[in-house]
Amino acid sequence: MTVRPVVGVFALQGDVREHVRALTACGADAVPVRRPAELDDVDGLVIPGGESTTMSKLSVEFGLYDPIAKRLADGMPVYGSCAGMIMLASTVLDGRPDQRSFGAISMTVRRNAFGRQVDSFEAPVPVAGLAGDDPFHAVFIRAPWVESVGDGVTVLGAIDRAGADGVIAPHVVAVRQGAALATSFHPELTGDLRLHGLFVEMVRAAA
Ligand code: GLN
Repeated sequence: MTVRPVVGVFALQGDVREHVRALTACGADAVPVRRPAELDDVDGLVIPGGESTTMSKLSVEFGLYDPIAKRLADGMPVYGSCAGMIMLASTVLDGRPDQRSFGAISMTVRRNAFGRQVDSFEAPVPVAGLAGDDPFHAVFIRAPWVESVGDGVTVLGAIDRAGADGVIAPHVVAVRQGAALATSFHPELTGDLRLHGLFVEMVRAAA
């Protein structure tokens, strides 16, 4: 078992540095991944927040899309936050027609689902499986939500909140399927390391 697992952070676009810092604090060796060869050395991958349409485009242009898809098909642990969640979905709503996603989690996500008027907000979200009973202080920035999940997907967290349609309803914002974890929100911005800690444990368990 790897003592300090090597966790890559998809680094063609998005808030890479904050994830590197959080992963390092959780006992991983965190390395940015920009080229396909850099993927060979990692035990797990984080896809950060940013802009999923740009991530999709750049990952194809830089030859990273297919190597990542292959590692995911082979069971490499992955954590996607916000745009990263969109990149892991099997179906993306309100995306660009040419936008690609890895389908590592059987879920349909809607981009920018909480509406554009209040496009960023913070809220406490109870997340199953984290140490302690405290809800996670979640930061949402033009966040997606999970509209439906398929077999084998565990819902870890949801929030009661109005969507773009103004209707307050529970919306799924944290899920896990096997070695793939995704959140609509940005734990790397809060100093709460419990989600990164969970992911590093998932990488250790898979190594
Ligand atoms: N709205 C962005 C997208 O569609 C995600 C925003 C974020 O990652 N903070 O990719």
